[in-house]
Amino acid sequence: MAKILVVDDEEPIRTLVSKILGKDGHEVMEAEDGVHACEAYQDAEIDLIITDLVMPRKNGIEMIMQLKKSHPDVKVIAISGGSGFSGQIDLLSVAQLLGARHIIKKPFTVDEIRAAVNDMLSY
Ligand SMILES: [Mg+2]
Repeated sequence: MAKILVVDDEEPIRTLVSKILGKDGHEVMEAEDGVHACEAYQDAEIDLIITDLVMPRKNGIEMIMQLKKSHPDVKVIAISGGSGFSGQIDLLSVAQLLGARHIIKKPFTVDEIRAAVNDMLSY
């Protein structure tokens, strides 16, 4: 079982993902934007981050870039509806280039989340 940080500015989505992971026996922490997520990551021994990309204050792309600098091995799953700061930019592809091993499009299924988490925790 792992300690997982769930980051999304939409509370219902955070709660949903947390419930899925909690049911699977993981310890879950939540953050509503990249600023809180970076703080939480520094303070807790987190095994995996599942993050939204479009968020106020510090978005998911900025957050991944910052964390990768100080923690190159940080494990990230990116989830997004795809409508970014520019309609021209595919944010999930950017997240993948920055090191997110799995990218998941909203709306996601429980099985997609579970499969990505299990893969991330198995290496
Ligand atoms: Mg969002």
